[in-house]
Amino acid sequence: MKQKLSILGSTGSIGTQALNIARALQIEITALTAHSNIDCLETQIREFKPAIAVVAEETLAHVLKAKVADTGTKILSGQDGILEAATEPSCEIVLNALVGIAGLLPTMAAIHAKKDIALANKETLVAGGDIVMQAAKDNGVSILPVDSEHSAIFQCLQGAPPNNALSGIILTASGGPFFGFSREQLYSVKAKDALKHPNWNMGKKITIDCATMMNKGLEIIEAVHLFGLPVEKVDVVVHRESIIHSLIEYNDNSVIAQLGLPDMHIPIQYALTYPNRLPSPAGKLSLTKIKNFSFFEPDDETFLCLKTCKEAIQKGGLAPAAANGANEEAVQLFLEDKISFLDIGTLVYEAMKAQRHRDEITIEDVLRADRSARENVKANCK
Ligand code: NDP
Ligand code: MG
Repeated sequence: MKQKLSILGSTGSIGTQALNIARALQIEITALTAHSNIDCLETQIREFKPAIAVVAEETLAHVLKAKVADTGTKILSGQDGILEAATEPSCEIVLNALVGIAGLLPTMAAIHAKKDIALANKETLVAGGDIVMQAAKDNGVSILPVDSEHSAIFQCLQGAPPNNALSGIILTASGGPFFGFSREQLYSVKAKDALKHPNWNMGKKITIDCATMMNKGLEIIEAVHLFGLPVEKVDVVVHRESIIHSLIEYNDNSVIAQLGLPDMHIPIQYALTYPNRLPSPAGKLSLTKIKNFSFFEPDDETFLCLKTCKEAIQKGGLAPAAANGANEEAVQLFLEDKISFLDIGTLVYEAMKAQRHRDEITIEDVLRADRSARENVKANCK
């Protein structure tokens, strides 16, 4: 088990749950980062005593610096600070729990510094998957999935036979708060409705992504990269109870699943303690209390984001980066009540379609595609 952990995005939903695990398992914290929540970060600094803490928002970093002057923690700011946190010399594993494309350069920096990565920040793999996975391979770095579906698949794959008998994987999706809605019903839904997820308590951006099914689209692309599978082998099934976190299928038609309560402590902890299993803060599953499981086909005509992501990964190149960047922009506009719920799908689809194909891509190309997709959304939503 890795004992020294840096958490990027420690004040968020994943970050705070990771600190519950660190507290219980006495994992040493080497660096913590936040965007602007300095009150939460101050409490974390006082409890976990990291060598470095970073506030992305420069002006707030000065405020925090004065507040924690009595501690031994060095306060840094901005993107450079986050890169230092990702490469802190004594750290052995980096949990990337940042939200969005902001996680891409820190992931690359951590890989080049030969730190293993527990990856929650799925946008990193969606936008720059080929580059990230190749860099991880070249540097002998493990990318351990934190996303619950990918952790489930990773767990199911432990003890897989050596003869490459895997015939496919099945990602489960809760269906979100609007499962079964028609486009007419979705026309007038607002952010407050979309922020009510039936099973999980998460950050705002991913909660909206669950409502649009973009989250499952992003997860298809994430799975393609993490497990090296063609998209045709990645299936999605709606499972309303969120107890089966995903499944794998072998060529003899045997299907293996991972189950548990919808509690992110389990996948976060597995990424941090792999290959070991230790007692966790998550509750115990009682199948007799759950009683029934239900399964449905996803509806990717109504939930256009899901279809967009499937097309994006088939198209390859920069198309996934464009879909991801457009989605980040569109979700922000929706949260500000500037566009409608259905606009998100349309804007993301148009931005993905507008992305020109390139075979050879660099990180700079990925960041450029992200920016131009955001511009495309802003131009098309007027
Ligand atoms: P939150 O919004 O709860 O937290 C995000 C964290 O990143 C916070 O610490 C925030 O700081 C920081 N942050 C946000 N924007 C920036 C930025 N531009 N630069 C630097 N730091 C930033 O997100 P979640 O924890 O829900 O999600 C994190 C990642 O994990 C996402 O990629 C999500 O898709 C993925 N994930 C989350 C799950 C969940 O259950 N929450 C499940 C599976 C995957 P501050 O608090 O100061 O704003
Ligand atoms: Mg997930």
